[in-house]
Amino acid sequence: MLTPNRMKNPKADPHREIKAIYAELERRLLPRQCVMRTGCCHFRIAGHTPLLTRGEALHTAQGVRASGRKILKPHPDGACPLLGRDGRCTVYAHRPFGCRTHFCAGAGGMYPRKHVADLIQRLEALDEQLGGHGSRPLEAAVSAALDEM
Ligand code: SF4
Repeated sequence: MLTPNRMKNPKADPHREIKAIYAELERRLLPRQCVMRTGCCHFRIAGHTPLLTRGEALHTAQGVRASGRKILKPHPDGACPLLGRDGRCTVYAHRPFGCRTHFCAGAGGMYPRKHVADLIQRLEALDEQLGGHGSRPLEAAVSAALDEM
């Protein structure tokens, strides 16, 4: 549960705005084909870890809770802790913005920032409304969000 004193705007609904941002991203129809190769989920191989704003972290944490988990457990291969043992994302519908825009080379590559800059600004604005402090690495951001629920 979000503590009201941490939120600059207590009326902000992170899930509604996050879903609206993700829906807008899907409407852009940029030529990418994610076929769930999960290459980007293996952080050591991909060379990057998704960074989440507070709203994204809360929304992803909601997906973790919906799957029946209360905490994140490290992946044995050092991959994303949300990558299932079956090799699929366990929170695909709730996955963060970075997972929706950092496509592997085989899927067409990363979205150019200029095509999504306005959506990043909306994520940052929501982060501020929610009393966030900017983007944080996925595991730390989602774990902190789970602790608050
Ligand atoms: S949240 Fe899902 S899509 Fe994103 S890196 Fe983790 S397993 Fe992959």
